[in-house]
Amino acid sequence: MMEIVDIKDWGLGLSEHTLIAGPCSAESPEQIEAIARGLKGSRVEMFRSGVWKPRTRPGSFEGIGEDALEWLNIAKDILNVPVTVEVANAAHVEAALKGGVDVLWIGARTTVNPFSVQEICDSLKGVDIPVMVKNPINPDLQLWLGAFERLSKVGINKLAGIHRGFSDPYEKRYRNKPEWSMPIHLKRMMPGISVICDPSHIAGTREIIASVSQRAINFGLDGLMIETHHDPDKAWSDAKQQITPDTLKIIYDNLNFRESIDKHPEAITELEELRQKIDLLDAQLIELFADRFQIIKQVGDYKREHNLAVYQPGRWQEVMESRIKTGNKKGMTEKFMKSLLFAIHEESVKMQEAQLKEAKAEIKA
Ligand code: PEP
Ligand code: MN
Repeated sequence: MMEIVDIKDWGLGLSEHTLIAGPCSAESPEQIEAIARGLKGSRVEMFRSGVWKPRTRPGSFEGIGEDALEWLNIAKDILNVPVTVEVANAAHVEAALKGGVDVLWIGARTTVNPFSVQEICDSLKGVDIPVMVKNPINPDLQLWLGAFERLSKVGINKLAGIHRGFSDPYEKRYRNKPEWSMPIHLKRMMPGISVICDPSHIAGTREIIASVSQRAINFGLDGLMIETHHDPDKAWSDAKQQITPDTLKIIYDNLNFRESIDKHPEAITELEELRQKIDLLDAQLIELFADRFQIIKQVGDYKREHNLAVYQPGRWQEVMESRIKTGNKKGMTEKFMKSLLFAIHEESVKMQEAQLKEAKAEIKA
């Protein structure tokens, strides 16, 4: 992988809290102009607009296409900011480059398909343009990483991720459920990469755009891409989740950007004592887990000798209920207790299964 260029160093005047705004889709030159005029005086640093729209089912508005590209210059002139559009194949890339688009983005439905991503990469050979990659629809970090690696291989090093949540049929609150650990893992795997949050496609409704945006900031994401329309209810796509430029200004002004601790040496010293306590407790926790697993092994030996199944549902039920209750009393949520207990239980079952396998191997030998 080539070294990734931070969004602040793309030469486009983007800040550490990049704000990207604009409609889901370009509808007409008048619409682009009205939105851009509305955004004037806001903190917007890049203008977004879909031109080719990937719709889940045919029949709905699929974008104006290439003809809309020149309308984006209206926004560029009014706001004096770069513009970005979604591309999904080589023809889109060619048209976008010809149309003077400054930054490309790859949509969630495209990131899932390595053939499409590769086609885009092949058409970008020798071109120096920043590319933002939305997470794939399903929570697969490898697919997301793969897209960045393909882009890097053809020489694109101005890269950023966009967290737009994941499809989940059981999810009621969000259109696409956020998974905040994903951008954190991505940043760990790809040092230097910026990750923007797209609260619009996470939320699906405008009422929760503000709270999703604040969470993104709390998790250390590097900016926001928010769908903005001068008359959201009449938007040709994603009407429910778009907000007016005025609402965007209010939301942005009310966000609480806390500074990274790295910039405050006094805080690091003051927190040192507490952090040492945490380190010690973590070490003790690991010791305790090791002791617990030791006993699990003894239980495993017993089960093997007496030909008992590894998984004992009655016992597991009892453990879950009593531990959740105790955890609750100490202020820990049921969700946290469950995931902790599941992790411990899964590891224990795996250990005992390995013991059984070993025993079988011994018998055969
Ligand atoms: C969009 O940004 O309008 C879009 C289609 O998003 P996604 O790829 O996240 O669904
Ligand atoms: Mn949209």
